[in-house]
Amino acid sequence: MSSLAVIPGDGIGPEVMAEVVKVHAVVEDIFGTGLTTDVLPYDADYFLEHGDVDIDIQEIRNRYRAVLLGALGDPRIPDNRHAKQIIGGLRQQLELSVNLRPVRLRTLEHCPLKHVTSIEDVDLVIVRENTEDVYVGIGGTVRGGRPGHVAMEVGVHTRWAVDRAVTAAFELARSRPRRRLTLVDKSNAMPSAGPLWQERFRAIASSYPDVECDHLYVDAAAMELIRYPARFDVVVAGNLFGDILSDEAAQLAGGLGVAPSASYDPEDTGFFGVFEAVHGSAPDIAGTGRANPLASVMSYSLMLDRMGLREAHTAVERAVDHVLCGDLLTPDLGGIARTDEVGDEMCRAIARHDKD
Ligand code: ATP
Repeated sequence: MSSLAVIPGDGIGPEVMAEVVKVHAVVEDIFGTGLTTDVLPYDADYFLEHGDVDIDIQEIRNRYRAVLLGALGDPRIPDNRHAKQIIGGLRQQLELSVNLRPVRLRTLEHCPLKHVTSIEDVDLVIVRENTEDVYVGIGGTVRGGRPGHVAMEVGVHTRWAVDRAVTAAFELARSRPRRRLTLVDKSNAMPSAGPLWQERFRAIASSYPDVECDHLYVDAAAMELIRYPARFDVVVAGNLFGDILSDEAAQLAGGLGVAPSASYDPEDTGFFGVFEAVHGSAPDIAGTGRANPLASVMSYSLMLDRMGLREAHTAVERAVDHVLCGDLLTPDLGGIARTDEVGDEMCRAIARHDKD
């Protein structure tokens, strides 16, 4: 038996992860994945009690096959230090350079664009570099609080990490029917990082002649996502642009309640990565039973896919289709169902999988 680490975290994290654990129990029962779960207590309360969350990331890597993360963020810790320690620690120390954020419309009712007339028009994956850019924490402030206040944020882009993200994006594009990859950058305003991304994109493209490539500046990409989302298949971008575009793209398929993500090191064959919803801890709805658990369940489904557990993955995806095309929806999707009711419906749909 091998194990999954479950970190429920803060806010709605524990509520949605309870549903993931329930779904996993049904999947385990039917498909026998051999994966047990360990719930780890790293959250805001842990931080406030211990003064920090100084966890041994390598031990997590060695002990578990993957991490299922709820959400981290708590108003009592305004600088989110605990979240940075846990999420930043996992991403940086385990070199999780690749962040996949798929967006697929399951029913037209959940798309806010009136000109989208087929669910196939919204089916894309954003591949976001996950460890660099302005998230490295290099910068500073001088003359703070005075009229000459200077604030600097440094965006770091290394050839190594760019190559890993771009190669993963090409591999993904090659595996999808449309085989199309769009590089998004702002090379017209970023004369150092832009050419690095463009040069590496071109160099790596030569190994993927079967993938159709194009390029958009990030402002044009933001516009095109609304104007004509069907033009996108796989998109690769740096950390900042990937973050922003994936929240925008998520809205095309129903919003943050149905936006999953997977972060992994493409070269680490022993550890499959960290799987978490794109959304945060949503303190505004925590404890109300209004949180949509599907984004976390869909992140779990991405893990099954990465582990090669095809049958289990297909059953969970079909159950997500079933729930999203039905009436038992949480308020973010216009329904009145509670978090646990949606989780129960997922479990029933998975249990019925081979009878449909
Ligand atoms: P972060 O800075 O970590 O992204 P945030 O508070 O800015 O956190 P979210 O926590 O993602 O952002 O919440 C943004 C909005 O989306 C909130 O109004 C929240 O209630 C809503 N939301 C987020 N996740 C869900 C969910 N799973 N179900 C329903 N609504 C959600």
